[in-house]
Amino acid sequence: MILFKKTTELQQHLITTTKSGQLTGFVPTMGALHEGHLSLISRSKRESGLTVCSIFVNPTQFNDPKDFEKYPVTIEKDILLLEQAGCDVLFLPAVSEVYPDGLTAGHFELGTLETILEGQYRPGHFQGVCQVMHRLLSIVNPDILLMGQKDYQQCMIVQKLLTLIGSKATLVISPTLREASGLAMSSRNMRLSGPDKEKATAIYHSLQWLKANIHPGPTALLTSKAREQVMAAGFDKTDYISICDAATLATIEHWDGRAKIVALAAAFLNNVRLIDNLPFN
Ligand code: AMP
Repeated sequence: MILFKKTTELQQHLITTTKSGQLTGFVPTMGALHEGHLSLISRSKRESGLTVCSIFVNPTQFNDPKDFEKYPVTIEKDILLLEQAGCDVLFLPAVSEVYPDGLTAGHFELGTLETILEGQYRPGHFQGVCQVMHRLLSIVNPDILLMGQKDYQQCMIVQKLLTLIGSKATLVISPTLREASGLAMSSRNMRLSGPDKEKATAIYHSLQWLKANIHPGPTALLTSKAREQVMAAGFDKTDYISICDAATLATIEHWDGRAKIVALAAAFLNNVRLIDNLPFN
């Protein structure tokens, strides 16, 4: 694996080493890598000839400065994991390399998708995601962009961004990898104690419970019971547990039994904010 910290050097390498007809797969991450990230690297290696991973903790997508400061950084271990996974190129830029003109950005027209769920509770978050993705895409110029369904709404936002900026990249969405307990793998899990990791499984259990108990009709009672379950397990606060249209993320207040739906959750356990989702059908 070759590591680049400078944009120009990475671009030069990509131009000179990419063989004609060879596809470039790109896996953007914020590091503190786990099996979920590595599953994206494996998928990229199956679907492309050259896999580029980036590790960049993007300051502009953190609406809470404390969350940014506490974001886990494990670079040496990450490099080892990427080597073992057979990643070809790692891009590890400094903030000044990604944002040479400063952190302020233009506005991306994302519509209501950025005001609901994550967007409602993390104002500005998806603008920051688009800002960094726009920049990274213009640097790497991949054919395939690999992202995790764990960040369901982010995948929808990025799909929209690809259209807005006319990117040639095809978005490939990979399933959520989970611990044996059901807990969705996440870099933020590193901040949970052993007992809290056990408690944290309540999110996934509540989503599974919703999936098992949903019937055509109103959904409000079900989602409020799911929230109670998560709070009873020891969570401090739920931002949302919602049943939504799988294609638009509009809240489904009354399910007709046919529409494709997904349950999404965000909740705090000891100041660690965890998210998860489960498509139903
Ligand atoms: P992050 O480093 O959290 O920004 O995540 C980088 C990429 O890995 C994103 O596309 C995430 O959706 C994906 N990802 C994170 N956790 C998982 C997981 N448990 N399973 C699959 N993909 C994941």
